[in-house]
Amino acid sequence: MHELSIAVNIVEMIEENAEREKAHNVDKFEIDVGTLSGVVIDALEFALEEAVKDSVCSKAVWKINKIEAKAKCRKCGHVYSVDDYFSPCPKCMGFGKEILQGKEIQLKSITVE
Ligand SMILES: [Zn+2]
Repeated sequence: MHELSIAVNIVEMIEENAEREKAHNVDKFEIDVGTLSGVVIDALEFALEEAVKDSVCSKAVWKINKIEAKAKCRKCGHVYSVDDYFSPCPKCMGFGKEILQGKEIQLKSITVE
């Protein structure tokens, strides 16, 4: 399961951070997940519940922020929301685009005790 390995990675990252700050417990953490990241948020929630067990964030509350993907058209410069890599620009119908955001899965913040 893809989401489980992501969840485990996230928890490892949090543990490294907590260790650096000499914290024994993590209160809260936030993750940004782009809509083009390929992650199913419900599945990630479920995987996190498993991954936090016996870790520094076993008591933490978490928040997953869904980041809507945005692309910039290479032809006309229009910035628009995308759900996939294949939709053309709504303004000029050009296919060339640069994805500005939405591919990321990242740890946004952690709050330690
Ligand atoms: Zn365009």
